[in-house]
Amino acid sequence: MELKPANNFIEEIINEELSVGKVEKIRTRFPPEPNGFLHIGHAKSLCINFGTAQKYGGKCNLFFDDTNPSKEKDEYVQAIKEDIRWLGFEWDTINYASDFFQDIYELAVGLIKAGKAFVCDLTADEIRENRGTLTRPGVESPYKNRSVEENLQLFENMKNGMYADGEKVLRAKIDMASPNINMRDPVIYRVLHATHHRTGDKWCIYPMYDFAHPICDSLQGVTHSLCTLEFEDHRPLYNWVVENTGVSHKPRQIEFARLNVTNYVMSKRYLKKLVEEKFVDGWDDPRMPTLTGLRNRGVPAEALKRFCEEIGVAKANSEIQVEYFDHFVRDYYNQNAPRAMVCFNPIKVIIDNYEGSETVLTDINPNKPELGQREMTFSKTVFIDGEDFSLCPPPKYFRMKKDGLVRLKGAYVVRCDDYVLNEDGSVKEVHCTYLPETRSGSDNSGIKVKGTIHWVDGQNFVPCQVNKYGHLLNDAEYAGQDFSERMNLNSKTVIDAVCERYVADAADGECFQLLRKGYYKKMSGGDKPVLSEIVSLKDSFKA
Ligand code: ATP
Ligand code: MG
Repeated sequence: MELKPANNFIEEIINEELSVGKVEKIRTRFPPEPNGFLHIGHAKSLCINFGTAQKYGGKCNLFFDDTNPSKEKDEYVQAIKEDIRWLGFEWDTINYASDFFQDIYELAVGLIKAGKAFVCDLTADEIRENRGTLTRPGVESPYKNRSVEENLQLFENMKNGMYADGEKVLRAKIDMASPNINMRDPVIYRVLHATHHRTGDKWCIYPMYDFAHPICDSLQGVTHSLCTLEFEDHRPLYNWVVENTGVSHKPRQIEFARLNVTNYVMSKRYLKKLVEEKFVDGWDDPRMPTLTGLRNRGVPAEALKRFCEEIGVAKANSEIQVEYFDHFVRDYYNQNAPRAMVCFNPIKVIIDNYEGSETVLTDINPNKPELGQREMTFSKTVFIDGEDFSLCPPPKYFRMKKDGLVRLKGAYVVRCDDYVLNEDGSVKEVHCTYLPETRSGSDNSGIKVKGTIHWVDGQNFVPCQVNKYGHLLNDAEYAGQDFSERMNLNSKTVIDAVCERYVADAADGECFQLLRKGYYKKMSGGDKPVLSEIVSLKDSFKA
């Protein structure tokens, strides 16, 4: 068989297995717990699980790990499906751990019959205390030597609701002296009187993740169970369950490094807190690293997937610079976004020697000449950006200043003659003279100016709101600093602006490069157009 070149260590393992005939068809699974929204870290796991299956002509299942009924909700199940579809992945089948509760229960009974599991009456605290440490072996449970018959009866009683939460657990009999603490007679079933979002009140015992997961992988025909590094120490237990429950299909667990991104909060617990404490405007707030947040911000799925491809699959944890992610988003829109002009904190400019109006042409996207040009109007009054006029300009200020020349992009060179201030000292309006011989495209005046600024025609503008974002987390000042100490309390800035009618007329969701400003998305709602920052114009990524 001809093997595809491996791009990472997981593919090397798969190639090796394919070459010796150990596997034939690859099947992976993406295993979210439906207890929150997916974030950018999950995108990496999605790309690895779906990407690996795709590469080898195999399949990937969507597997909901719903063994923890108290935190799970159908709302999250629906959101997770939507996020995966947005990334353009298609699962083969959808399975839930709860679909397998009966099978898992029967395999647990089988373990008891084989003398490999026992019901333990120790409390959670006692079990923890008796578990020992890395240097000290654990202490055997006094209940370990119950007879098979007694264990079967007690386990059935557990299932029949005869005990309170935590009163009894089922534990695997492995090795209390194992150097791997996960192997020290781990709990595999617990009593929990909670209503499950799918099975309702049918069960009051639930399998633990470490027991359920390998069984579910096996029953789904998963060949490679790809997960993050924190499960590495659980692999011996994973293999123990596969071997000792006697399931016929034997999946293999392989661990890869988690994705961490600088300035991004990535723990569900914190993300939830941000939403609940109204620090952000919901799970889909454009500042959130959730997939719904990134999508709402205007991040294209394609850019996210390219990012995941480029960072690759590693065996050691690391932190990726957020600028590296931004780079792919910017690159996408630089190629694809139409250009437009929007002036933030606008200043009115009156061109005293100009009468009437005319049409000038501008490229829709200079990277896509095939899209051609569009028309813009120019007239006696235009707006310029608040940052493009200075009352006391510093040296080398080549924008608009008294007695200076500047080009209005795509139109004329103007000279600033004077300005009028408001009572509070702010600029009310600026007066200019235009130089007719300098019209863009037909300028042979020989006049050279150092600055070109953008503008919006005073006859064709719409007031709008601009939302600009900083990161939710400030840079880490020292390693290990807690998220709560790093919160950026000023991560959203709202700015008054004027946009071209072209922008105001665009459909909600349309994304633009606002010249000299950045990439912005037109949001829905609001009584005036809202333009929300996707990513800044400048690439600050340093490799
Ligand atoms: P969190 O810690 O944010 O709650 P989780 O690991 O509990 O995340 P799950 O729903 O259990 O979230 O994750 C589903 C899959 O996504 C798991 O296989 C997990 O390993 C993977 N995953 C989660 N976070 C990351 C990440 N930052 N990088 C890569 N994979 C991740
Ligand atoms: Mg988890």
